[in-house]
Amino acid sequence: MLDDQWFSEAVSSDGSAFSLKIKRKLHEEQSEFQFLEIYETEHFGNLMVIDGCTMVSTRDNFFYHEMMSHPVLFTHPNPKRVWIIGGGDCGTLKEVLKHPSVEQAVQIDIDERVTRLAEIYFPELCESNHDPRAELKFIDGIKWVKDAAPNSVDIIIVDSTDPVGPAEGLFCAEFYRDCFNCLSENGIVVQQSESALFHMKILAEMRGEMQAAGFNHQQTVFFPQCLYPSGWWSATMASKTDLSVFREQDAANKSFETVYYNRDIHKASLAMPEFFKKAFA
Ligand code: SAM
Repeated sequence: MLDDQWFSEAVSSDGSAFSLKIKRKLHEEQSEFQFLEIYETEHFGNLMVIDGCTMVSTRDNFFYHEMMSHPVLFTHPNPKRVWIIGGGDCGTLKEVLKHPSVEQAVQIDIDERVTRLAEIYFPELCESNHDPRAELKFIDGIKWVKDAAPNSVDIIIVDSTDPVGPAEGLFCAEFYRDCFNCLSENGIVVQQSESALFHMKILAEMRGEMQAAGFNHQQTVFFPQCLYPSGWWSATMASKTDLSVFREQDAANKSFETVYYNRDIHKASLAMPEFFKKAFA
């Protein structure tokens, strides 16, 4: 907090801060895993903060949730079984369930309290939680993936907090190897991969760990997210098979509403900035 009218997330390692004007704090609690806060803001609706980091606001979460879901779902040839590791606010689950091909979507968040608070303060994100294809599990996603049988899932979306605390183990080769083992032949894992401006080290390590786990094909998508450090976020897909094409016609004729995602946005999100090409192409 800068003062009692602003919530501020200051990241000293990035040398930057982002602030939102708040009306009041609606809730705070220490869960078994993390410190959870909910604010009512002046212009962004409600805001969820976990361990001092901004997670979700009513106003701008659609960028993140749509871009964590639709690019990967329109890249897979026929996604039926989807797991979301983390994602406790349920926004990604809602987007995944918009795809008619999806027969089962399991959200595995370590912290049930995140979902219970989302139900109260972000009900619009939770409106598909009772879809018969949805299952909510409250256990460690690392263990869930480790214990899974081969060929048990088509897409794994890792919608986690940053690589510290309970999420640290979601960013390493051992976890990606477990993902590799339980994904189907055309399976894809996608993970939120931080800011390409601020966090190239994390991105490089993540891509290296994915490669070490056997994923020879990787593709990063870029999108705006003003709430997160630098305002420019990314998600990285990794697969055993080619990721350079997506189901463009299906994306163009999608049967559901989105706020940000469409075929042209998908195409544009794949374009690599020069510095990124130099690092990874
Ligand atoms: N959009 C957010 C971001 O990038 O900052 C992520 C939002 S979502 C609320 C993150 C979720 O990851 C939290 O609910 C947290 O409980 C969950 N999480 C962290 N570590 C986890 C683990 N090992 N297994 C399952 N869920 C985990």
